[in-house]
Amino acid sequence: MSDDLSHLLNHLGEDRPHGFDAVVPPVVQSGNFAYPTVAAMRAVVQQEFERPLYTRGHNPTVATVRRKLAALEHAEDALLFSSGSAAIAAAVIAFTKAGDHVVCVHKPYSWTRKLLSELLVRFGVETTYVDGTDAENYRRAIRPNTALLITESPNSLTFELQDLAAVAAIARENGIVTLCDNSYSSPLFQNPIDLGIDLVAHSGTKYLNGHSDVVCGVLAGRAEHMRQVMAHEFMTLGAAPSPHDAWLLMRGLRTLELRVHRSADSAERVARFLAAHPKVRRVHWPGLESHPQHALARRQMQRCAGLMTIDLDAPDEAAVERFCDGLRRFLIAVSWGGYESLQWPVCALKGPSGYYTDLPFTLVRLYIGLEDPDLLIADLENALARM
Ligand SMILES: *Cc1c(COP(=O)(O)O)cnc(C)c1O
Repeated sequence: MSDDLSHLLNHLGEDRPHGFDAVVPPVVQSGNFAYPTVAAMRAVVQQEFERPLYTRGHNPTVATVRRKLAALEHAEDALLFSSGSAAIAAAVIAFTKAGDHVVCVHKPYSWTRKLLSELLVRFGVETTYVDGTDAENYRRAIRPNTALLITESPNSLTFELQDLAAVAAIARENGIVTLCDNSYSSPLFQNPIDLGIDLVAHSGTKYLNGHSDVVCGVLAGRAEHMRQVMAHEFMTLGAAPSPHDAWLLMRGLRTLELRVHRSADSAERVARFLAAHPKVRRVHWPGLESHPQHALARRQMQRCAGLMTIDLDAPDEAAVERFCDGLRRFLIAVSWGGYESLQWPVCALKGPSGYYTDLPFTLVRLYIGLEDPDLLIADLENALARM
C-alpha cells in the first residue's frame, strides 16, 4: 500500500485532538450547532458551507469524509450525497437549464436514464444517447445548445468503454462540461479528472462503502464547480447524507485498497474460467484480451473491477433460471461492491426502471465479492452443469 494512500484512507481530514484523541473519529450525530454569542453565530453564517451551522450544509463527520473523497479522485473538492443518484441528479441539474441539450452514453445506469428521459424533459432539457465506443459519436451529437456530455465508463451491464480523454477534449473544444460516473472502477482503478473530465460521480453505496449497509453518493471536481452545486442544488434539493452513514463510509474507506484488489483478482480468475466454458457465449469484462476495447481499458484504467456480465448459451429462460437458482454462493440481488458475491439476471429485470427489456434474456450480471475465488468458480461450474 502506498504511503500516500495509507495516509489518505487512515488520517487525512481527521481532527484527532478535537475527537478526544480517539483512533476512530467520533460521529457528530447532530442536526444543528449552537454558538455562545450573536457575533459567533454571525461569523459562522458567513461561512455556512465550511463551518457547522446545520447538517444539511456542513457536518464535521461529513467534512472529514469529503476531504478523503476529493483526494481519492484527485479533485479540489467533493460533496457527499444521500445516494449516487442524488449526486448525478444534482450535477446534471446544476449544469443544464431549460432549452439545453445533453449527450449521454447509451445504456447508462437505469435511473440516470430515467432522470434524463423522464424528469429533465419536463423542464425543457433534451438528451441524445450515443454509442460511446467511438468518441466521435459525441462530437457528431453536439448542437449549439449542448451543455453537458455524460460518460459512464464502463457503462452498466454491457461494460462498453468511452475514451475519456478523447471525450473530454471534444467537450473542451466546444466549451461543454463533462461528467463521468466512475462507480464501476472506484477511484483506485480510474481517475477521470486526470483524463480531463470535469465532474466525477460515484455511487458510494458500491465499492467506496463496501459493506452493503449504506446508500450514499459522491460528486467530485473543481472547487468553483463544487461551490456552485453546494450553494444551489445540494442545499435546495437537500439530499444530504446522515452523519452516521458518513461515518460508516469512512470505516469502509479504510479497507478500500484491500477490498478492490481482492475483488479484481478474483474477477480475473472467474472471467478466465467462464470465457473458456462451452456453455458461456461471451464474458463482458474489459480485463479480458478478447474484449473489443481491452487496449483502451489498459490505457485509461489501472485495473478492471469485480463486475461482469456473462452471456449464457441457454435455449430459453427456464435454462437461465436453472443456472441462477443453482448458484449457492451468489445471492440474487441488485447493487454490488460489498463482501458477498451477487448475481442479477436480465430476465428478472422488468421493473419500474425497466430499460433493459431490449437486452437478451441470456445475460446475467455477476459481482465477484471477497469470498475464496476457488469456491466461487466451483459454484459456477456446478450451476453451469445443471443448466
Ligand atoms: C448504483 C449505481 C448508481 C446509483 O447509485 P445509488 O447510490 O444507488 O443511488 C449510479 N451509477 C452506477 C454505475 C451504479 O452502479
